[in-house]
Amino acid sequence: MLTHTLSDTIVAPASPAGVGAIAVIRVSGKNAIEITNEIFSGKDLTQVPSHTIHFGTIRSEKGEIIDEVLVSVFHEPNSFTKENSTEISCHGSPYIVEQILKRLLSKGARMAEAGEFTKRAFLNGRFDLAQAEAVADLIASTSQASHQVAMKQMRGGFSQKIKELRSELIRFAALVELELDFAEEDVEFANRAELKSFLQNVTQYVNELLQSFAWGNVLKNGIPTAIVGKPNAGKSTLLNTLLQEEKAIVSDIAGTTRDIIEDEIVLDGIRFRFIDTAGLRETQDTIEAIGVERAKQKMQEASLILYLVDSSEMSENLDFLQKELQNLQKPYFILFNKTDKLSAEKIAELEKTLNALCISAKEQKGIEKLKKNLIELVKKQKISHSDIVISNVRHYDALAKTYQSLQKVLADIETAITTDLLAADIREAIRYLGEIIGEVTSEDLLDYIFSKFCIGK
Ligand code: GDP
Repeated sequence: MLTHTLSDTIVAPASPAGVGAIAVIRVSGKNAIEITNEIFSGKDLTQVPSHTIHFGTIRSEKGEIIDEVLVSVFHEPNSFTKENSTEISCHGSPYIVEQILKRLLSKGARMAEAGEFTKRAFLNGRFDLAQAEAVADLIASTSQASHQVAMKQMRGGFSQKIKELRSELIRFAALVELELDFAEEDVEFANRAELKSFLQNVTQYVNELLQSFAWGNVLKNGIPTAIVGKPNAGKSTLLNTLLQEEKAIVSDIAGTTRDIIEDEIVLDGIRFRFIDTAGLRETQDTIEAIGVERAKQKMQEASLILYLVDSSEMSENLDFLQKELQNLQKPYFILFNKTDKLSAEKIAELEKTLNALCISAKEQKGIEKLKKNLIELVKKQKISHSDIVISNVRHYDALAKTYQSLQKVLADIETAITTDLLAADIREAIRYLGEIIGEVTSEDLLDYIFSKFCIGK
């Protein structure tokens, strides 16, 4: 539970645990600068201007040097938390970090809870809840697409839109409630036709946002992509070909901790995750029936399907296949593999008649074209949705509830329900919208959201 008061001064390492060139310790709260100053020698930090950096040493109680450090000083309200803050950059040794933390604690600071810096930023009005959550997403982003979604959310486009809708709903609610005061006189301050048309617009917008969730999730977590096809169609070969370059890039980055590389590739900033690829490799020896079942299951789980056909055998019923794939109602590509075994004429004919992609997984032909098609497909999907993409389950939940209450309000207007019930239903929609940006939040919800952050954030 985050029950501490805001007057506390909190500290935490802001850089990851372990050895590094430098580590950063964050201090925030009313006495952040004084507390830092007490353990720092070199300059009186209480006298320096905001946004300045100072070189000096931090010593043990006995006066021995723990480390040479740089301290950045921020005066309230011009810091991340809007509180007095310092950031101590020391050498990246876990021992040094621990010793400096101990010194800060001995001077009256306390260890920060997970997410407490961001929680303070929220409570001090730096940003709303949706923006605070985007900070966590931003830190966790692993591709350009997920970074973009988080960055947009953090900069407040989504919040702004929700705020606008909410204040317009509040305006209507106020008018409807005013009617209650004049109940005897049968007046209508809130024009019902206007209210209805506004509600229809909002409902449509909220629905679009709800629709964008599936896509937002995909951008945030990568696109689950299934490579399916009969045994020996060349699925593993294709996967290896696709992963090859990626693996080379990843292992070239010195000091990377990711020694186990997942089966995923990043194309033009978009992450494609190949699902259940271990099983894929096994299908070669399993009997056909099980293979079909597995393939179907995999296709259900995926957002995108690459269906491989061995073009040198063509044992598939292509009409049937196409129908099956269409029934799944998700984007797919039929890939004719092993076209290195076919003549150029045959390839041209296949491409023309079946609108499929011809590749050779083994000889790495048509792979660039496949990648280009994958990127285009994703970009096309993105455009078809509103500019704002929902990627947070909590927002999705609140929007789904908003949607339901908006539907209820619309039905209320149709049935000319009593004014007090109408007002109550509008209030409900307002409350759900408010939950997203933190206009109405319980302490429990805040605890839940911020406890998912890491310490030091
Ligand atoms: P899977 O069972 O679908 O995973 O198929 P594999 O990737 O294991 O491939 C089955 C066989 O087809 C292997 O002998 C591969 O070398 C071969 N193969 C895969 N792709 C191609 C290709 O593009 N051209 C040719 N000629 N052979 C291929």
